[in-house]
Amino acid sequence: MRGNVLLVEDEEALRMTVGDRLRNEGYAVEYAANGDEGFEKATLLPFDLIILDVMLPLKSGLVVCREIRQAGLVTPILMLTARGQTADKVNGLKIGADDYVTKPFDMRELVARIEALLRRPPSRPVVQTDDFHFGSVHVDLAGTEAKRDGAVVNLSAREFQLLRYFIEHRGATLSRDELLKQVWGYSAYMYTRTVDVHVASLRQKLESDPKQPKSILTVWGLGYKFKS
Ligand code: CA
Repeated sequence: MRGNVLLVEDEEALRMTVGDRLRNEGYAVEYAANGDEGFEKATLLPFDLIILDVMLPLKSGLVVCREIRQAGLVTPILMLTARGQTADKVNGLKIGADDYVTKPFDMRELVARIEALLRRPPSRPVVQTDDFHFGSVHVDLAGTEAKRDGAVVNLSAREFQLLRYFIEHRGATLSRDELLKQVWGYSAYMYTRTVDVHVASLRQKLESDPKQPKSILTVWGLGYKFKS
């Protein structure tokens, strides 16, 4: 068995198609057909990954995602968003989703994203005790927590991994491809926008002026550079 997946989706046909494919790939699949049921199962049962549709009856996928994170669960969340609804993607990533796939999607793409999320390193490394400061930000790398002006900053697991990678490679120019490969675990030009969305979110949360970043810098034509 490759992993326990919770699939929260109200369209029965899609639930069946995705569920059958994932079982064929060796995953165990549990279903929820609305937001309430999704949140309940996500917090009661242990899952390796949650696939969460945005448009759900009773409670939207975005609300479910936020409540799952507020409940302290770090289970990777893959959102299913409708074509053209860019705000859903950005909001989903901001409130703690790890990745998204736009409907209609190719099953191979969905499976590849799931594998990448399950391959990512655990969010709490065993040996890591360093604290790191930049600007008014204090990062506790061992406790996977960041504070700005003394107040805890809410970062998604992926945002924290990206921040950690920046800190560990400070001063180096990092291409989007490298960040995708090292932080997300997959490499494909079509996903590089994901890096930009996460960088924008980190700047929003950590920079005093996100439009004039002092630490998370853009290197035009090449990628990003972290400067402390
Ligand atoms: Ca739906």
